[in-house]
Amino acid sequence: MDALQSAPAAAAKPPFKPLVFSGVQPTGNLHLGNYLGAIVKFVELQNTHECIYCVVDMHAITVWQEPHELTRAIREVTAAFIACGIDPKKHIVFNQSQVAEHAELAWVFNCVARLGWLNRMTQFKDKVGKDRENASVGLYAYPNLMAADILVYRATHVPVGEDQKQHVELARDIAQKFNNDYASSIAEHMGTVNPSGEAFFPLPEPLIQGPATRVMSLRDGSKKMSKSDPSDQSRIALTDDADAIALKIRRAKTDPDPLPHDEKALEARPEADNLVGIYAALAGHSKAQVLKDFGGAQFSTFKPALADLLVAKLSPITAEMRRLKDDTGYIDSVLADGSARAQVLAAETMKAVKDIVGFVRR
Ligand code: ATP
Ligand code: MG
Repeated sequence: MDALQSAPAAAAKPPFKPLVFSGVQPTGNLHLGNYLGAIVKFVELQNTHECIYCVVDMHAITVWQEPHELTRAIREVTAAFIACGIDPKKHIVFNQSQVAEHAELAWVFNCVARLGWLNRMTQFKDKVGKDRENASVGLYAYPNLMAADILVYRATHVPVGEDQKQHVELARDIAQKFNNDYASSIAEHMGTVNPSGEAFFPLPEPLIQGPATRVMSLRDGSKKMSKSDPSDQSRIALTDDADAIALKIRRAKTDPDPLPHDEKALEARPEADNLVGIYAALAGHSKAQVLKDFGGAQFSTFKPALADLLVAKLSPITAEMRRLKDDTGYIDSVLADGSARAQVLAAETMKAVKDIVGFVRR
């Protein structure tokens, strides 16, 4: 990968049109980490960029999903996108399995990416633990499909939480190796397939910003908040009501000391740091500002204030999600319309990729 990263910058940066792509898996309940780490940024980016937001159902089945539950979760994530403020008319919202080009390009990328690159992926190691032999091949190849999700639109910016940084970097490496391996074929087809420059794929940039790029579990400050954590107490779900939120925050693991006045002192206190970070992100403040207000306070004072803020921010979203979720006709029509628009873009890329690789096509 190092050799790839030192390849000439000229080949890496043709003038690609800025385009945002990101995805969320329909696996279990969406949580505060997904909201603060990803969806809040999805909403903001709509003001400055063209955006494509995808419910990545093909990623979901890399671990077992009960079919009815998967269908429900696809609609729920779509409802959450809309309830949080994503506009499916101005931008594109769809589910991955309706645009077959994602899987098609992923196969080409399976042949571009190297085993050594995938062997370094920490998410795979974390998710399989000691049971590696029993993991699906799909879970291992997941980052190649993610690269295809982004690059089938030749997207340039990918808003994600900190945990996905390594996968976006892998997508850059795949893009660059494709551009290098097929450089002469790309040049041959330039003008027809690639008016924007020498490189066919852009090197997508991860956008990882804000005070809550890695929201941690409420039960263990060393683990990220996750849909797949078996403990429901570890996360605030976007569907939780006010009582559930208050209870989970009251039970959240902390230490016995009051909150410090100085941000530096949070470094050795991961659970306190996490709760202060959540407050800061929701209030639109810095952690320093939160400590200015709550430094010296006990958790018995801070936790109810945090729970109130969570309820104030999340309850309108929860209510709208509930309303939309039951309107499956509307949700399915949003996904069908988004898929049709996405497919037009993806098909253009796939045609060009086939020409570049040397496949014969109709
Ligand atoms: P799973 O455990 O099934 O992988 P997940 O909670 O990680 O689920 P994803 O659908 O994989 O959810 O991720 C959707 C988006 O949310 C990604 O951009 C990811 O980086 C972001 N994200 C997930 N968890 C967190 C977290 N704890 N803090 C901040 N961002 C997060
Ligand atoms: Mg994840």
